[in-house]
This record gives sequence, C-alpha cells and structure tokens, in this order.
Amino acid sequence: MRQRVFSILLIAFLAGTYSVPAFGWGQKGHRIIAKVAYDNLSRKARKAVDKALGEKGAIYWANWPDEIKSDTIYPDSYDWHFQDFEGGLPDSTVADALIHYPAEGGNLFRALDSLIAVLKAGKGDMHTLRFVIHLSGDRYCPMHMAHLSDKGGNAVKMKWFREETRLHTVWDTHLIESQGYSYTEYAEKLELEYGWAKKYIDAQTDAELLLDTYHLTSDIYTYQATWDGNTYHYIYRWRTEMEEQLYIAGIRLAKLLNEIYK
Ligand SMILES: [Zn+2]
Repeated sequence: MRQRVFSILLIAFLAGTYSVPAFGWGQKGHRIIAKVAYDNLSRKARKAVDKALGEKGAIYWANWPDEIKSDTIYPDSYDWHFQDFEGGLPDSTVADALIHYPAEGGNLFRALDSLIAVLKAGKGDMHTLRFVIHLSGDRYCPMHMAHLSDKGGNAVKMKWFREETRLHTVWDTHLIESQGYSYTEYAEKLELEYGWAKKYIDAQTDAELLLDTYHLTSDIYTYQATWDGNTYHYIYRWRTEMEEQLYIAGIRLAKLLNEIYK
C-alpha cells in the first residue's frame, strides 16, 4: 500500500516524534505553486527571479509555457509537460526514469533537467526560467505522470457534476476549482496548514517524491474503477492529496530556485 508522506508525517507530528522515515496543473494550480515557491525563496533567489522576469514576476509567468504550446517559438515543447508511464511498474523502473529518460510517454524529466542545467551554468534567459517554474510544478500533478494507454487520463471520460470531462482535467483544474479559493487564498491556506512539513519535504530526494506521485496516480486509477460517480464523494476522497501535491510542488520549486541562485 502506498505510503503518503503527509499521513506518515502527520502521525509522527501528532505523536510528538520527529524520527520520521526519509521520504500539470491548470492556471490556478500553477499560480498557487509559484506563490508558495516565491514566499519560500531566499532573498538572493528572489532578487534574481525578479530581475530575470521583470515587473510581472514569477506568478504571472507561471502559465506562459502552456500558453505558447501552439506557438512556433518552442515547437518541441508540447511533450515537455508530462511523463506518462504504464501502470504497475516496479519502483526501480519509475525511479530510473529520472536518470535514463524513457523513450516514450513525454519528455518532462529530460526537458526540465536540461533547462535547470542551463540556468545553473548562469546561461538561459527569461524563457528558460519561465519553463523551469512551470515544468517543476507539472512533475507533481498526478495526471502528468499517468498512464500511457489512456493518454495520461485524457481518454478517461467522467462526469463532474453535470459536465462531461476527463480524468486528466479533473486533476488539472476541477478539483482545485471545487474549493472556491483564489490562488492567493489557496497558497496562504496551504502554507498555514502544511508549513510544518516544509523541512521534511526539503529533505526528500526527487526520486522519493517521484515515486510518491506515481503511487498516488496508481491509487487514483484504482479508485476510478470503483467510484460511484458522485462528484462530492470524489472531492471528499482526493482534496487532501491534491493540496499536498500543490504544496510539495511549491516547496520543491523554492528549493530548486534557491539552489540555482545561491
Ligand atoms: Zn504544463
């Protein structure tokens, strides 16, 4: 059974012990992630990000890579946003994808690694940084690491209240929108509720967090097969996991930018 970092940590936290085990979103999701990240930047990183992105800043530009998908400016960037897998893979195979990028299912890991390397080398431009801010968040969207066979949940039809939609869109957008917060309200709520977990999220490796997301995706598919079709039940079942992923994505983006601009 998948072990979720937050459930483990919450139990440890409530029990007063800290010896815990090591451990693509829509527009609003990316803004929430960018806001959490920006709030957690070092002074130096914040200055560098502000300088590179100008007056509008990180939150404004967080969705730009989605907006230019159909433009010719980065013609190959469409598949930079996801890395789909077959279901039921062993952990070692999934973790290996971070090092030896899979030949099919998207190019998220490869693209992100090369863009990060460009920034770490002191090169790149504002576009490079906008991509890193965006793609770093996509890594933690369960449906951006979904099944190859159904095009990352895009072929899984479902009803959200009375609206026909797809599993992919539910996780990109509907679940977040169901809570009715603005992006600033949502970011602040997450920081209030999950701020205690920040140091544990910082201590995780990318591979551990990747596996955690892959296991979450598997659980979402398992639930889908038995779901009674009631949207309220769906929201009640997955809201917490969705919020955890957003918060983790924000903290990891901050960590990444703090490392790049140290
Ligand atoms: Zn994206």
